[in-house]
Amino acid sequence: MANNDLTKRIYLDYNATSPLRDLARTAIMDAHAFPLNASSVHAYGRMGRKIIEDTRAHLSRAINCPAAQITFNSGATEGNNTVINHFAQTYPKETILIGATEHPSIHDLPCANIKTIPTDHNGVVNLDALENMLGAEPRTSLVSVMMANNETGTLQPLKDITTLAHSKGALIHCDATQGLGRIHIDMQALGIDLMTVSSHKIGGPQGVGALAVGLCGVSPILLHGGGQEKKQRAGTENVAGIAGFGAAITQACDADILTHEQQRLEGLRTHLEKAITDTCPEAVIHAQTAARIPNSTLISIPGAKAESMLMAFDLDGIAISNGSACSSGTVKASHVLNAMGTEKNLAKGTLRISTGWQTTQGDIDAFIQSFTKILQRIQK
Ligand code: PMP
Repeated sequence: MANNDLTKRIYLDYNATSPLRDLARTAIMDAHAFPLNASSVHAYGRMGRKIIEDTRAHLSRAINCPAAQITFNSGATEGNNTVINHFAQTYPKETILIGATEHPSIHDLPCANIKTIPTDHNGVVNLDALENMLGAEPRTSLVSVMMANNETGTLQPLKDITTLAHSKGALIHCDATQGLGRIHIDMQALGIDLMTVSSHKIGGPQGVGALAVGLCGVSPILLHGGGQEKKQRAGTENVAGIAGFGAAITQACDADILTHEQQRLEGLRTHLEKAITDTCPEAVIHAQTAARIPNSTLISIPGAKAESMLMAFDLDGIAISNGSACSSGTVKASHVLNAMGTEKNLAKGTLRISTGWQTTQGDIDAFIQSFTKILQRIQK
């Protein structure tokens, strides 16, 4: 039965956005208690500056990137646009290679010099194709491959990709929006030159993110104007948002908490996927054999329509998504499933279940109960 009390509904759409963590909410409210412009020299300004530098230090530890190389911005869309546009404008005669399943903030950019690297049926970048493309003329300035896909959860073999790209003199950008807080990240060990992250996928507020540029010597300017963020991104900083982001990082990216949370979410997913297969043997669980972040399940039900199922789940008080939430509302098949070679009719019945820090076994059981009921209705 529909539950109109939003606090009592079940949220299984963490890849779209995560519930705000209590610590982040407190940090935001505390920062909003004062007029904190971090450029001011007075005590309020110094307090704002300290909040920003504390978050930078937390993120620096979480991704292993020097703090001085991190610039705060409004989120991953801004970060991705900035990086791709920078390379497109700086090296107009060179190629930018992107994965076929990248987020629309990369995939849909109108840059003439972008070429797409094909993937296998799990959405994993084809390394042979990448090597061939890197060897072709004109030379490649940048390879942009995401850490984990927002629809399937598929993880990319980033170390192999960075090694290949560097051997041909190209730099590597990685959209780590769905990786932060889900897996341990070491930007330097992976050889990533530029990395994009977002606060709201890890229980921080929306509208905050960061671009980390490692030690590659390229630092795209995000916005021109005042001297904020070492002139990399002008505009008064979102101090309260950055405070919330910092609080979320201390919880989501703490090494011990993260390891524990990975095991917990993997356990929930195994239970979920087994129940889906038991209830509906013909269901396709995408990328099930690939390395994935632990919180994501993408399923297609032959003959079903995702929109009707989504509404049925919503009536049962369960929030999930059809493929990419960023493009939900539009009924066209996801470019991710297209790249993976999923048959168009099957793609129409695709649902994404993504879990996170507040998800319990009870939530998964409620989903399974609802799934069984909705399936019976469809199959009648
Ligand atoms: N990249 C990926 C992989 C994402 O999942 C998202 C959010 N759906 C974004 C980029 C955009 O992030 P933001 O909402 O911070 O702009």
